[in-house]
Amino acid sequence: MTGPAPREQVLTTTCPRDCYDSCGITVIKRDGVISAVRGDPHHPVSRGALCGKCSTAYNREWLDPRRRLMEPLKRVRPKGRRERDPDGDDACFEPVSWDTAIAEIAERLGSIVGSHGPQSILNAHYTGTISLLAGVAPMRFFNRLGAVEVAPDTICNMAGHVALRYLYGTSVDGFDPRTAKDAACIVVWGANPHASAPHAHDHWLPEAPGKIVVVDPIRTPTAARADIHLQTFPGSDAALAFALLYVIHRDGLIDEPYVARFVHGWEELKPVIAACDLDRLGAVTGVPLPLIEEVAHLYAEGPSLLWLGQGFQRQTTGGNVMRACALLPALTGNLGKPGAGFLYLNGNLSQRGMDEAYLSGAHLAEAWRRDAGAAAAPSAVSHMDLADVLEDRQRSQALFVWNMNPLGSCPNQERLRRALQRDDLFMVAADLFRTDSTALADYVLPAASFLEFDDIVAPYFNMSLSAQAKVMEPMGHSLPNLEIFRRLGRAMGFEEPEFHESDAVILETLMSRSGLGESFESLKAKGMIWVPKDPALQFADGVFDTPSGRIEVASARAEADGLPRVPQCWSDARPAAGNLRLLSPAHAWLLNTTFGNVQKIAVRLGRATILLHPSDAAERRLREGDTARVHNRCGRLDLEVVVSSDIPRGVAVAHKGRWLTQDTAYANVNVLNPGTKSDMGESTAVHSVEVMVEALSR
Ligand code: SF4
Repeated sequence: MTGPAPREQVLTTTCPRDCYDSCGITVIKRDGVISAVRGDPHHPVSRGALCGKCSTAYNREWLDPRRRLMEPLKRVRPKGRRERDPDGDDACFEPVSWDTAIAEIAERLGSIVGSHGPQSILNAHYTGTISLLAGVAPMRFFNRLGAVEVAPDTICNMAGHVALRYLYGTSVDGFDPRTAKDAACIVVWGANPHASAPHAHDHWLPEAPGKIVVVDPIRTPTAARADIHLQTFPGSDAALAFALLYVIHRDGLIDEPYVARFVHGWEELKPVIAACDLDRLGAVTGVPLPLIEEVAHLYAEGPSLLWLGQGFQRQTTGGNVMRACALLPALTGNLGKPGAGFLYLNGNLSQRGMDEAYLSGAHLAEAWRRDAGAAAAPSAVSHMDLADVLEDRQRSQALFVWNMNPLGSCPNQERLRRALQRDDLFMVAADLFRTDSTALADYVLPAASFLEFDDIVAPYFNMSLSAQAKVMEPMGHSLPNLEIFRRLGRAMGFEEPEFHESDAVILETLMSRSGLGESFESLKAKGMIWVPKDPALQFADGVFDTPSGRIEVASARAEADGLPRVPQCWSDARPAAGNLRLLSPAHAWLLNTTFGNVQKIAVRLGRATILLHPSDAAERRLREGDTARVHNRCGRLDLEVVVSSDIPRGVAVAHKGRWLTQDTAYANVNVLNPGTKSDMGESTAVHSVEVMVEALSR
């Protein structure tokens, strides 16, 4: 006898991961239970397929009540112990109700505000989700509280933002990827779409009619498939940019009319370019001169798109590197016309009609400042300084962590771990899972997943707006991020309307203010919309938000900030004798530390590895599969050797994103990162780390 056929529902939503793609997702439910999470076949980016990591995780750990955090937890044993109860659960915590957790957290935060001021409370967050309500709106709580923000982008891309603002007045208004159909050339510089934008790698780049040029020290799958791969030595990007500019200038390819009309400071920069020694620059970069000349012509003749990645600005001179590379579109007139432009991030929410100030409650910081009689809102601290600040009891009485896993992501990992174990540091963490960081919290708050609440995603590559639709109830007692902070705000006695506004009201307010003629329900019905409808031309109006109103290749603001007026043809010295330059890029199966706990992915990844060039491996008597000790003054890590000719000699690669608990040493590659800052924005210089590598065993 057969029962009634299962009732099937097909729902659509959007992936809100920190990823260029922002895929459309189809969720299949049978009898009200999710049976599959897949790529939306009708979505122009995902085209029916998610990346391997999301496809794996969203159908397993994300839906698994045994793996998810199901209720608020309160610490009952001292920090730093790893005790298990008979069921294998962490015995350092016990479940409490939301009412208890919220009341006790609010009381403790209130007491810290009274004794040390709100500026002793640190707010650490990043891009665990990039949807607007879960990723931005919690700032309402912290703005009202007056907490010190750990400047989010300092862990990732701040140097590039600062650099581009000097030149163009904005870093978040990039080219429209739809204009690739008009480009004769696309240069991907310091990005690895294969890992970080898999659908751009699979579809956008192969379908573009123009030549593809990739600049990357690593022969990534995207580089291997490009028409031309310029394989640079790390730290030589500015030298390569100047080599290209030298050829462009020498061969009469500067767009003089464009420069005369829209560029400020060309006369100052020109002699710097003309004085370059092309042979020396070729040697510094490791790129053959004929290739430099070919790419210079290809790019300058255009129209050309320049995708400025985030990887190449994570260096000690990362800001200068970005400024140097970003000269290319300005001096060749590759702006304001079809198939031309540059992209760092399309992160300007107002470009999509979204009212970011309303969303984040920016005015609440002002209200706090006024009430507190403070001269200015609290200044942020860099992620590079997080361990320092947490070692200082006066500066840090409490730490709130949400949308990130700092113990896995931040530099100075060993010092950070010790600082987080301070008994007198009050730490609260919200997450979907027990992470390396939640293990050291006093309260752990279960956050709902993106499948469990409505939200909006504004992709940072494609110019679109997508609905993140609730397709199931929050698992266990988990709550959407914003609801957690609304409850906390009310418990802290914050009376502003922002702490009473529901998600539905915020979503409708955002859409009604957008001028897009859509409600959230209509957006949800469509899944995604293009904003603007037709491909945009970057800087078509020739208006730049700089003091001169032009592209400032010479910048008085930079000079006032203690930087050179014009970008410099600098390159890093090669690593000290015996050292290797360590790159720790994203792995295709991990995304920051998201997915580090997914069992099937962990099995696929196996042991943590280090890639070594065959000559570097041989020099150290290391063979494939050996264990190498990788160390510097900051820490040490034992890694399995992979010998690879995909990287230049003198470079080692160990991917980021693994969880500490996966490795017996309870460390990942960030244990080797001393947190040196780049030249701009107090941003990370993680790709400038040098290490020694030695044979440990065979
Ligand atoms: S992480 Fe990126 S590629 Fe993977 S499903 Fe999400 S948006 Fe798509």
